[in-house]
Amino acid sequence: MIVKKFLCAPGPTAVPAEILNEMAKPLIHHRTPQFDAIIAENAQLLKQVFKTQNPVVTFTSSGTGAMEASITNFLSKGDKAIVVSAGKFGERFAEIGTAYGVEVIELKAEYGKDVKPAAVAEALKANPGVKAVYSEYSETSTAVAFDIKGIAEVVRKTDAIFVVDAITAAGCMELEMDAWGIDVAVAGSQKSFMIPPGLAFLAASEKARKMMETSNLPKYYFDLAGEIKSNEKNTTSWTPAVTIIIGLNMALKMMVSEGIDNVIKRHYIIAEAIRVGVQAIGLKLFADVPNVRPSDAVTAVRVPDGVEGKKIPDIMQNKYGVTIAGGQGSMAGKIFRLGSLGYMDKTDVIIQLQAMEFTLKDLGFQFESGKSVAAAQKFLLDNIKL
Ligand SMILES: *Cc1c(COP(=O)(O)O)cnc(C)c1O
Repeated sequence: MIVKKFLCAPGPTAVPAEILNEMAKPLIHHRTPQFDAIIAENAQLLKQVFKTQNPVVTFTSSGTGAMEASITNFLSKGDKAIVVSAGKFGERFAEIGTAYGVEVIELKAEYGKDVKPAAVAEALKANPGVKAVYSEYSETSTAVAFDIKGIAEVVRKTDAIFVVDAITAAGCMELEMDAWGIDVAVAGSQKSFMIPPGLAFLAASEKARKMMETSNLPKYYFDLAGEIKSNEKNTTSWTPAVTIIIGLNMALKMMVSEGIDNVIKRHYIIAEAIRVGVQAIGLKLFADVPNVRPSDAVTAVRVPDGVEGKKIPDIMQNKYGVTIAGGQGSMAGKIFRLGSLGYMDKTDVIIQLQAMEFTLKDLGFQFESGKSVAAAQKFLLDNIKL
């Protein structure tokens, strides 16, 4: 039998054929009116995804480039910053800060949990002079969504800026940059944007742009002030990933024509159907629900006792054609992660659950075949108009 391939990871995500075709056209030069118009349109469309009037710049880099830029462009040597973390990506913020000589105060919770706004308020009180608070929104490594609206409410009352890694949240979960008072939000192309890796986005509020003026950390490629100036002239500072920016233009138009709020609703329905499905055969979510909100980008599932967890992503990919993600770092072999991010439809729920069932049978886990698929299907029937 042939093995048909499905990319269901929480990044990189599947790219629609029409976008691939658009990106396959002969290359254009980046210093042309034709390309300037695309840059200008993307900048406007990105604002709709972030729900902001602030400038949203596009860097040619993976998401981590924008995370780094969100430190180097606002902070100065020796500044104190609180990093809220309960997973691998939160830890990355702390590592970048430390690398640049920032005094990082880590506010940690166990993997699978989150850090509550009240804890952030306490930490801000205990550490006067903190310049910024960094947090994940959707912590992709644990599939937990942090209460960003709540944390923003706490931070906006202080002089600190609030920086959010929205890399798997933008275009996936509710994100109201301006209304909630987020100062800096970052995202990446290979997540909800349905295009290949290579672009990172960063939006910055007026409060953040003020801090940018005094920031003395080293920066060159990721110099935000320069990039904002270039963008105002509808161009970029350096040679951008032209092909992916063209793909982005089509992807953003698709997202806006579906309606950003509908895109977010779709992500919830797909993710919830997966959550319902896995629990129907007795599997447990890794996210500490209901104490935390699960992310709608990805579902982390605990590997059941007696099953060799590291084999699950391998068998799903190599034998059944469905690429998902395993656990990162110390979570390797303990969880596996099903995707609901980006170009995802109800059918992708069924594809993943059935490949998961086949794989778990192969690995000796006992359950009633088809039950996860049936439960997810029932949820989909009850919750969407087919
Ligand atoms: C994917 C991801 C990143 C960025 O990773 P890159 O490999 O640099 O694109 C950062 N944060 C989160 C939450 C992510 O999911």
